[in-house]
This record gives sequence, structure tokens and C-alpha cells, in this order.
Amino acid sequence: MTDSIALLKEIEQEMRELRHQIHANPELGYQEVETSELVAQRLLEWGYEVNRGIAETGIIATLKKGTSSRVIGIRADMDALPILEKTGLPYASRIPGKMHACGHDGHTVMLLAAAYALAHGHSFNGTVRLIFQPAEEGLAGARRMIQEGVLQQFPCDAVFAAHNMPGYPVGKLGFRAGPFMASADQVSVTIHGKGGHGAMPHLSVDPVVVCASIIMALQTIVSRNVSPQEMSVITVGSINAGKVSNVIPDSAHMLISVRSLNNAVRDHLEQQICKLIHAQAEAFGATAEIQYSADYPLLVNDHEMTKFASQVAVDWLGEDEDEVMNDIVPFNGSEDFAYFLQKCPGCYLIIGNGDGEKSCMAHDPRYDFNDDILIRGAGFWVKLTEAFLPLNA
Ligand SMILES: [Zn+2]
Ligand SMILES: [Zn+2]
Repeated sequence: MTDSIALLKEIEQEMRELRHQIHANPELGYQEVETSELVAQRLLEWGYEVNRGIAETGIIATLKKGTSSRVIGIRADMDALPILEKTGLPYASRIPGKMHACGHDGHTVMLLAAAYALAHGHSFNGTVRLIFQPAEEGLAGARRMIQEGVLQQFPCDAVFAAHNMPGYPVGKLGFRAGPFMASADQVSVTIHGKGGHGAMPHLSVDPVVVCASIIMALQTIVSRNVSPQEMSVITVGSINAGKVSNVIPDSAHMLISVRSLNNAVRDHLEQQICKLIHAQAEAFGATAEIQYSADYPLLVNDHEMTKFASQVAVDWLGEDEDEVMNDIVPFNGSEDFAYFLQKCPGCYLIIGNGDGEKSCMAHDPRYDFNDDILIRGAGFWVKLTEAFLPLNA
């Protein structure tokens, strides 16, 4: 039997180069044509059954060994972001305005390296399903894959995914059971007032003043309607009204982002936000039109599967707290792997991308995935698979 971690070491250099190749050629959500092709070609070469074109560019790769009916699913995301890269790296994006600024290039290659080791070692009994997902960044590629029936056609007993995390030491694995990544909702608000001459405001209903009042009042929802123990965020990220200083516009428009780590709080926020906006608008003689749309749901890690995954990490890396962190704080960011976890038990974990000056936050034009964690991440997928699909089962 070949040691899977030794196999990973053999292909480390090749995988680093492949990561750079994908980094240099970023593709946005549902357009991951070349990335998908690179992934599929290798999987086919290594003996996987490869199903392509799921949610446009998604791939499900299956490898069965032995007789067990157990199935583990592991997902990587492949899409880039509409950002102009400023890293100055030799392998920086060749496409202006597109960039792998969230490390999905690294996630893709990490899972691909694991695929190699799982195919070439002889170390599990059951089925591995590798889910290469498009469009994680805001376009809900996970939801689309599920809507297209992947979990019926390719069922899994449990699903796992990981995200690199800047601000955490290199390669450190972090786990938390229960709610882990926030739900994200978007609210589009139009305030209809009555336009007029900027010098005669008493003859109009100024929607700009109404918006100003709403924005300040919205901040009292988090501070006065939600328990201080609960994380919630309301951010007005966009406000648009008028064009010149001496005209009061007819209407004003705002976009609001709402986050929480508890579905009851999420419902409460929706009610309060809508109530407050309508009441404020009415008080000024204006009307409000509100479109409240759910973006990504709360990501909830299964308790048993999280314990299982963290135990695999401890068994591999030792009890040392520097390597495995349990019960880490939840994140305010959101993640569409939440859709998979709504249908199937599993765990979403983090891998430290490095802290200090060298590692800036994801979505920053200077961000880069840390190649030093490629083998750590791939190694964890292999160890997890070997533990989930043991040879003696
Ligand atoms: Zn991202
Ligand atoms: Zn990401």
C-alpha cells in the first residue's frame, strides 16, 4: 500500500504550478470553462468517472474502491472575482478585472491533489465524490447544482468543504459545530417622495432626508431590538438619489446587507427593517417600496460530522493547539456550501492562510492563496476520506 501523504509530496511542485496556471487565468461564476477542463482532464486520466456540465461548468467525479456502500462528498469552488489584481506576482491574472482573490484556485488544486493521492493509493473502502462547483461568489452555484439534482443522482452520506482563512497561522485547521457562517440577505429600498425646486423644500417631499433618517434609525435595530449576545449586522452599502444640488429628486434608492447567525434573529431583523422603513417613510409623507431577498442561508455544521472531522485532524496532526483549533468563532461572511449542508450532514472548516503582514484578507486586490497549505489541505481530504471509508468496514 502506498502512503497517500508521500504521494502528495511527489506531486507538490506540479500542483503549485497548476495553481499558478489557474490563478493567471481566472474565470468568473458559471464561466469556469478552462478551469473545469483542466480539472476534468486530470480526473479522467486518474480513473475517475467524470460527470461534466452540471450547473454549466460544475463537475462530479466519482471513484469507488472495495465493497462498502458508504459515500463521502468533498467540494471545492472554482470561480474568481471581478477585481483588478494588484499583487505584482509573476503568475498574476492575465485578464484585467478578473482575479482569484478568494483562493478558489487553491481550493480547486487542493482537492485535485487529494484526488490524485486517493486514486493512486489503495487506502479506502467505499465511494469518493469530488464536487467541483462553479459560481460560489454571490451566484449560488451550490444551489443550482442541488436544483439540477446532484444529490439525488450522486448521493453522499456526508459532505465536506474548506476555505483558506487569512489571519490564521499557515495550515492550522479550524472547526466549529453548529452555525458557522452568517446568512446574508439583500434589501432593495426605493423611497418615493415628491420632487421640486431645491430652494422651496416645503413644496416637496424630500426622499433624501427620508433616507437619512431611515439609515440612522436602522442602526438602532441591531443595538436595541436584538440581544447583545447575538451577532447581527445591518449595512447600508449603497445610496443613490438626485444629480444636482438645486433639485429635490422624486425618489431615492438604497441597498442594504443584513447578516445573522441565527434564523430566528434573521426573521426578526426582516420584520423590524420592513416595519421601520415603512413607518419612517410615512412619517415624512413618503412611501417605501421594499424588495427583501434572501441571498445565502445560515451555514450550519453538523455536530457529529464536525467532531469526526476535527478528530481526524487531531489524529493526524496531534493534540497541539497550534495545528487544530476547535470551537473557533463563527464568521460574519457567508458561503453557499450552506445549501449542501441543508440537504446532507457535513462540515465546513477553515485552513489558516497565514497571519501578519504577508496575508491580507480575501477579496483584497493584493490577496494570494498560500501555496504552503496546498499539501496540508489535500492531506486532510485524504485522511478524512480514509477515516470515513475505513478499509475494515
Ligand atoms: Zn470570496
Ligand atoms: Zn471564497
